[in-house]
Amino acid sequence: MKKKHRLVVVGFRKNKKGDTYPLTAPTGRRQSIIVAQRFKSVLPEVPHPSPVDLLQVTPHIADEDLQSAQSQAAVVEISRFLGTYLSGFPDAAVYPNATGAEEYSCEEDGTIHVPEWGKYQVGVQGLNKWRIYRGGLWHETQHLKYSPKDLWTYYADALEKDVSNIVEDRRIESAGVKWHTGYLPEKIYSDAYAYAIRPSVEDLWNRYEQAQNDFVAGNLSREHVDTALFDVRREALLQNVIGGFQKGKLPQAEQARIDDVSKTVIKSIGQLNETVEANGWSPRDSSDSKKIMDGVDKIVQYAISSLSLKTLAKNKNFSDQMDWDQTFSPEVSRDARGGSSQEAHRQKVQADIDEFFGKKRREQQDKQGQDSGQGEGQKKKDDKQGSGLSQGKDRKKKKGEKEGSSSGQQGKEGKEGGKAGSGNGAGQHPTAEELDAAQNGSADIIAEFKNIQQGTGFETPEGLNRSWEPVIASLPTGSYDDTVFKRDMQKRMRDWHSGRKVEVEKSGQILNVGAFVSSHGKKSFYRIEQKSIKGQKYVFLLDFSVSQKSREDAYKKAMINTVETLAGVGGKMAVFVFGGTENGQSGFLRVKTFEQGLWKPSDSGRLAGLTASLGYTPTGTAYSKLTSYIAKHRPQYFVTVTDGSPSDRTVTQDKVRELKRKTKMVAFGIPESASNEDREDMAQTLKDFRYDKTFVATVDEIPTKIVDLIAPVDT
Ligand SMILES: [Zn+2]
Repeated sequence: MKKKHRLVVVGFRKNKKGDTYPLTAPTGRRQSIIVAQRFKSVLPEVPHPSPVDLLQVTPHIADEDLQSAQSQAAVVEISRFLGTYLSGFPDAAVYPNATGAEEYSCEEDGTIHVPEWGKYQVGVQGLNKWRIYRGGLWHETQHLKYSPKDLWTYYADALEKDVSNIVEDRRIESAGVKWHTGYLPEKIYSDAYAYAIRPSVEDLWNRYEQAQNDFVAGNLSREHVDTALFDVRREALLQNVIGGFQKGKLPQAEQARIDDVSKTVIKSIGQLNETVEANGWSPRDSSDSKKIMDGVDKIVQYAISSLSLKTLAKNKNFSDQMDWDQTFSPEVSRDARGGSSQEAHRQKVQADIDEFFGKKRREQQDKQGQDSGQGEGQKKKDDKQGSGLSQGKDRKKKKGEKEGSSSGQQGKEGKEGGKAGSGNGAGQHPTAEELDAAQNGSADIIAEFKNIQQGTGFETPEGLNRSWEPVIASLPTGSYDDTVFKRDMQKRMRDWHSGRKVEVEKSGQILNVGAFVSSHGKKSFYRIEQKSIKGQKYVFLLDFSVSQKSREDAYKKAMINTVETLAGVGGKMAVFVFGGTENGQSGFLRVKTFEQGLWKPSDSGRLAGLTASLGYTPTGTAYSKLTSYIAKHRPQYFVTVTDGSPSDRTVTQDKVRELKRKTKMVAFGIPESASNEDREDMAQTLKDFRYDKTFVATVDEIPTKIVDLIAPVDT
């Protein structure tokens, strides 16, 4: 696990060839993305969209990597869900790193960074690609769940930090699989992939021997030889301890040493996990966290001293060290691929995965045969001699397993004894059934992948033009939360929350004796007024042209808080954003449609993830692309928020006239500045389009004005 700078994902658009690609931002608080030229007042007319344009279909992505916007949006949504579900951490939030950073990492506050699905090119495809992607995410969630909070600060020494990563990665995965034994097949598949992708220790050993020869010949320093041996031992330890399988063989004495140390490390990790569990130590509690880290440290120091790592690592540069988490990154896949074609690389990876499973199956059969042949006495001995890991204890014998004719009841009993091993995966001996699941994928993961393929939840709803593509970006919304406004609204909207307002007046439905007396008969009745926008529909169309850039954060904050407030009192929200380029190319994005149900925090996250990037304001084109949808839903209000003149004036005028027959067309114009002159300018601009209502409002004024419009609160 590495601490990462927060990265910002921003949206996506189409290039000239019609490929979709994400808009990405560099690290930092505020990023400028593709800042197109600033077109504003002098705008050429964009031609009225042709019927062909209106029917423009999302380019169909035929390859099985499924990088359509729908699929990508589905991956973000599923990952978000998995982030909290698998970590048990309510604040966990998963963000795809769209900015080129391809690694998996997580932060103390629950932020998990995953690679971006659309760019996730690894050694396997289709369902298996999802399994690897998900495995990387699972690993980070287990860090959130089990890693002590002072993991990041405990070590200063690079070697200790590196070895502790190995120990901790194994520790959290073991704990995770023990907690959810059904996860074992997926863990095994990740191990198989790691086996295919990580370097062969045999190759590293050959490199070490070569270094030795060079040293003898006087061409290389002693330190280089040491570093080469360090690389062998570190990789062998990592593979045996976390993945449970070593790629390539080592000379006997060296292998024995590695096996011995790995076994003890695994055993000690198992014991540490038992202690943590027995004492109920919480990784979030400072003093518990320290105790866990002290336990980890004992194992770390043991591994370092028994493999002489300190001496060997004297000249080691740890900055380019590949840890377990990185195994599943596209970057490492590219490195492993080297100069070969993607196809050749995939074949090689598959061959290695098959080899891994071949070994696993032989091991499983051996174990089964051994157990059934040796009987009870030997079984107990096996347990004692094993790695000492207890993870297997909870695993239950499965009824009705499919088994070969050679293994009958005896074989089943034998399996029960097969608990401890020399570091297989999470320290468990999988059953034949689990190995099948590991090779083919578990049912729920297959179902998830089907949802990804179909872009479930992000299909273009009926009646909506297909050029409105889902937003695949997502950002934390915390910084956009306007608590003052929200609190204010809570108070103001009390009547709207309850759906009615009770007023004491001169006449009404219910006589109030107390009020009658105290007001000398002037106010003696309760009047109950229905106040509700529950079930009513509102469409928001937000201009994200680049002129919004300078106030983008304030703009997003205003819109997020407005929409959340209205959704909070029962309004149904559909939110669209747009911007355009000279040649009519879109950013037409749907943040949320009516069909997606209630407004969710993830919808705010999508709104937060957007950035203004396109130079034009094709308002009329956006209206054209929404006409059928508006006709279908007949929203109460269609609210346009813009900061300038549409780049397609004639179309805009036509469309406002047309849409006014189906809904109330309202426009909010954000003036250049708060000055009277700019306000008047904006008022004049909007007047030309003959909306039902127009408002000129600075970004800060927008939330209150929109809420006033939709759910007016009388004073
Ligand atoms: Zn890790």
